[in-house]
Amino acid sequence: MDIESIKQDFPILKQRVNDEPLTYLDSAATAQMPTPVLKAIEHYYQHDHANVHRGTHTLAQRATAAYETARQKTAAFINAKQAEEIVFTRSTTESINWIAQGLSELIKPNDAIVVTIMEHHSNLVPWQQLAKRTGAELRLIDLNDRQELDLNDAARKIDSRTKVVAIAHVSNVLGVVNPILKIGAMAHQVGACLVVDGAQAAPHLPVDVQALDADFYAFSGHKMMAPTGIGVLYGKMAWLNRLCPSQFGGEMIDQVTQQTATFKPIPWRFEAGTPNISGAIALGAAIDYLSQFGMQAIAEHEQELAAYAIPKLLAIDGLTLYGPQDRHTGVLAFNLAGIHPHDAATALDLEGVAIRAGHHCAQPLMDYLGVNATLRASFYLYNDQKDVDRLIDAIKATKEFFENGFEQA
Ligand code: PMP
Repeated sequence: MDIESIKQDFPILKQRVNDEPLTYLDSAATAQMPTPVLKAIEHYYQHDHANVHRGTHTLAQRATAAYETARQKTAAFINAKQAEEIVFTRSTTESINWIAQGLSELIKPNDAIVVTIMEHHSNLVPWQQLAKRTGAELRLIDLNDRQELDLNDAARKIDSRTKVVAIAHVSNVLGVVNPILKIGAMAHQVGACLVVDGAQAAPHLPVDVQALDADFYAFSGHKMMAPTGIGVLYGKMAWLNRLCPSQFGGEMIDQVTQQTATFKPIPWRFEAGTPNISGAIALGAAIDYLSQFGMQAIAEHEQELAAYAIPKLLAIDGLTLYGPQDRHTGVLAFNLAGIHPHDAATALDLEGVAIRAGHHCAQPLMDYLGVNATLRASFYLYNDQKDVDRLIDAIKATKEFFENGFEQA
């Protein structure tokens, strides 16, 4: 892959920040959008903008066709059996909330819901709330010494009382790819529903929901080169049939009388009100953009960058890297001894290097790691070894500044 020419597709990356060339290493938070995605949004608003599904005029038909084409592209992208298994939402967070709310009636006081200690708050707090509402028990699977999921602990916690197992496909802190097939087999063995948070996976690796045997799979457009405000809730048709809609109103109804309403078929019954039409179309354009390279090639590119970065990071005195070091994604969380991550991230920004500092919405994992926060650099298709070199140089300059800076100044 010619990363130098791929970079040219991203106008935002051409700028300077603090008088330095921008080195964008925060794609795990939000990825940048290439020109074809920006153009798809512009084209929609300049030519086809209208409300979907209820108009007979030409623009409404075009908007509807483009929106439904995006659904088909999304289904193909994750190998769903049919486009009707794709529900457009606002984000991963909204998708998981709708699953947790929609399953409420199936969860009873003696049941158990199993998540893991590495979950993003989006795949933890909705389950905490469901447990609270229903009286079910919430259990968290632990990590082993390698900071991977402890499968023995999973086998202990997933038992005959378990009704839901909700797990990240890829951790947004440890960068580790979780063994979905193994955990899924344990869940299905006891008849539990397998919910996969794919926010950090769908943008970066090939995802096949049928091969994973996921009952639900959630992800966000803005982490895969589409805009904010569009997300995906995939569900096996059998599970979508058991899910109660969380929102009611226009677009999702079939017939309404004064006191009652019937609903449209799946997936439209879950999409109440006017949806994010341009967001869905842009997601379709992002899928086209990613697909020309292939998700396997993108995954390998990020693995190579991580393999290039890890020894350089580990060679820095006082740097602690979290997660297994032979991880398979480009998410690298670390800390520098004696320097608060927020101070380090601010110093790196002065060098034009954009990385994230904080708890990454994974406070139970931070507690487990014994820290309040970490730094996190994350790679995507448009990053190359030069970006890694700039990161390493900026970390060294930051350390120098915090260790000796005031004497030299
Ligand atoms: N899960 C994981 C693993 C994430 O990394 C994120 C985003 N940081 C989310 C869920 C939530 O995504 P969103 O904010 O787009 O809903």
